[in-house]
Amino acid sequence: MSTPASRARSMLAAFGGVEDLHALIDTVPDAMVVIDAAGSIMSFSRGAERMFGYVEDEVLGENVSMLMPSPDREKHDSYLHHYFETGEKRIIGIGRVTTARRRDGSTFPIDLAVGEVLLREAQVFAGFIRDLTESHETERLLHNLQGELAHASRITSMGTLATSIAHELNQPLTAVTNYVQTARDLLAELTPENVDLVREALEETATEALRAGQIVHRLRDFVSRGETTREIVSLQRMVTETTALALLDVKVRNTNFITRLDPLCDAVLVDPVQVQQVLLNLMRNAFDAMADTPVKQLTIISAPDGNGMIRVTVSDRGPGISPEVAKRLFQPFVSTKDSGMGLGLSICHTIVTSHGGKIWAEPAEAGGTTFHFTVMSAASEGQV
Ligand code: ADP
Repeated sequence: MSTPASRARSMLAAFGGVEDLHALIDTVPDAMVVIDAAGSIMSFSRGAERMFGYVEDEVLGENVSMLMPSPDREKHDSYLHHYFETGEKRIIGIGRVTTARRRDGSTFPIDLAVGEVLLREAQVFAGFIRDLTESHETERLLHNLQGELAHASRITSMGTLATSIAHELNQPLTAVTNYVQTARDLLAELTPENVDLVREALEETATEALRAGQIVHRLRDFVSRGETTREIVSLQRMVTETTALALLDVKVRNTNFITRLDPLCDAVLVDPVQVQQVLLNLMRNAFDAMADTPVKQLTIISAPDGNGMIRVTVSDRGPGISPEVAKRLFQPFVSTKDSGMGLGLSICHTIVTSHGGKIWAEPAEAGGTTFHFTVMSAASEGQV
């Protein structure tokens, strides 16, 4: 099957010179960026001009990291060095969902495929970039990730839901008891009027019993999918993927993302789907909080927290947590939003504690709110 990377390879090979490529590349609707071994841009297609907002002349010879947000922006040179030193392919020929940065500084989700080719004995890399914000394939590409996240939220909210469902069930069951007792009392004096009332009471009983059945049914749906697992995963990778997912929300597009992830504590031992759910919930809350603030800035930081744990911090520049919810923040059904379920943070709490970590919030230094949570490091003790 022809992949973007293999198409890049054959195109470059067929033409034998970067100059000749333009006419052909410009017919490709996606962006194509060719770089040399030092990471300098050698070719920038029309599609790339449209996608990133630069014209080719502005970027030729520049480092390709200018098209990336942090932390890739600062790290791209070291990614290239790592590849040349070890031959280990982290993206070449593999492709992945990640984020890119436009000329105006805004960040957007992309599907990136990179091919490598020797051009007149010089090594060059061709990147094919598909903007997932516009792509019709977005749904397909992110479908699995989103589906898994939705499932994780179902599973992990089980504990929370058990309590609330017990509460919900109590209401129809109490009503059933009341209607049946009323019907029994009415039967003691069988006037035609009372027969009508008994019929009404029995109809209400049936309705309430059905409601109780639906609640049980819902509970069954919640538990009907598999168990969760722990694996060693890269925190940076999870953050990048979750950011790409969050960026699909239109409200989020003009947010400035700052990511400072400590490379020395990148490997964590978690259920990645669940931890991404925590990140996504915290990011969504942050975006909601910044809906009306002039500065929209989201900061994600990681740092060692001692005892083999890693702390992840998500800060926003919103108005801060309102006092009415501050004390009950992680309890279910606590929300200040018109359409809020108030389940997001309680799900985060369930996930983080089931991973052996902690989650807490505090006012952010620059104004706004900071959420911290801890997860277990996959590195041996002493390194964190
Ligand atoms: P929901 O988002 O459905 O309201 P959550 O449990 O995720 O449920 O959040 C509960 C409440 O906590 C929110 O309604 C909001 O009042 C408050 N909150 C959560 N995150 C933030 C934040 N970053 N800034 C300000 N308030 C927040």
